[in-house]
Amino acid sequence: MYDIIVVGAGPAGLTAAIYARRAEKSVLVIEKSTFGGQVTYSPQIENYPGFISMSGNEFADKMVEQAINLGAEIEMQTVEAVETDGDIKKVITDGGEFTAKAVIIAVGVRHRQTGLQNENSLVGKGISYCATCDGAFYRNRTVAVLGGGNSALQEAVLLSALCKKVYVIQNLDFLTGETKLINKVNEKENIEIITGTILDGITGSDALDYITLKNVETGETSNLSVDGLFVAIGLVPDNERFSGVAKLNDGGYFDSNESCLTATPGIYAAGDCRDKKVRQIATAVSDGAVAALAACSYIDNSL
Ligand SMILES: Cc1cc2nc3c(=O)[nH]c(=O)nc-3n(C[C@H](O)[C@H](O)[C@H](O)COP(=O)(O)OP(=O)(O)OC[C@H]3O[C@@H](n4cnc5c(N)ncnc54)[C@H](O)[C@@H]3O)c2cc1C
Repeated sequence: MYDIIVVGAGPAGLTAAIYARRAEKSVLVIEKSTFGGQVTYSPQIENYPGFISMSGNEFADKMVEQAINLGAEIEMQTVEAVETDGDIKKVITDGGEFTAKAVIIAVGVRHRQTGLQNENSLVGKGISYCATCDGAFYRNRTVAVLGGGNSALQEAVLLSALCKKVYVIQNLDFLTGETKLINKVNEKENIEIITGTILDGITGSDALDYITLKNVETGETSNLSVDGLFVAIGLVPDNERFSGVAKLNDGGYFDSNESCLTATPGIYAAGDCRDKKVRQIATAVSDGAVAALAACSYIDNSL
């Protein structure tokens, strides 16, 4: 049995592992896909104190290395459920079952989908949710980015260095990203911003042929031929599988207190997956530290 199992190896989960190891607790981190979490999608991080500029992958590698060097164990599995058996917590994965005295759930959020027909069948064949991961496949081609917030604009800037033409499609009449990023987008000659427009259709069978756009005001539709569509319309929680041990709010995020404690003693929620106003690396690592220290105190004083 481990002292602490951390579910998810993003900034929150890895910080929790680092703090728990420094308190000499045995720690297992279980990650389903990418060690480092969402930051690995970020081409450039410029708002994390102490680092003027670094790539998301560079940051992720450093966090993983630090956690492993301190003695955290890691497993690449998907956690399917967390259950309690008295004071013992069971973590059930697609590969087996682990037990711990405390569990920190740090599963982040996932990309919001358009919900349109053909979206799922064309993922990897023209539809992507990550320019850092897939942008190189569209070198010298024409792509569209759906969304007008920070993530969408970051994607557009990155793609503009690779692609012939990048359309940014935004439902509102204005972009909602940071001014600095909007200025950067406006400086790129191969980026064209289409505002007041929604995505109305995705067409293609083996590959993406074209997307259909609809003007919000006039209702007029038009087809735009693109090789790739990068969907960047926000993130949603994926916490349902943990709802048996941790209460969710109406939006599906974990309800947790100042110590990141959920409704169940010994089960904590950290990072983007919990109810909070600001979802950034700085707030995720803060949660990770708080949750780990609260879990250590729970193990030392309550069990
Ligand atoms: C494109 C992009 C750019 C960004 N740029 C910045 C930036 O410049 N500055 C900044 O501060 N923030 C930025 N962010 C936000 C930042 O990345 C997040 O706030 C931060 O990563 C949240 O950390 P987290 O650990 O809570 O969650 P995540 O990073 O989402 O990590 C959660 C981890 O849990 C894993 N997981 C999920 N479910 C399971 C399961 N059932 N079993 C096992 N593992 C599971 C996931 O695979 C993931 O690795 C950016 C985000 C994106 C998408």
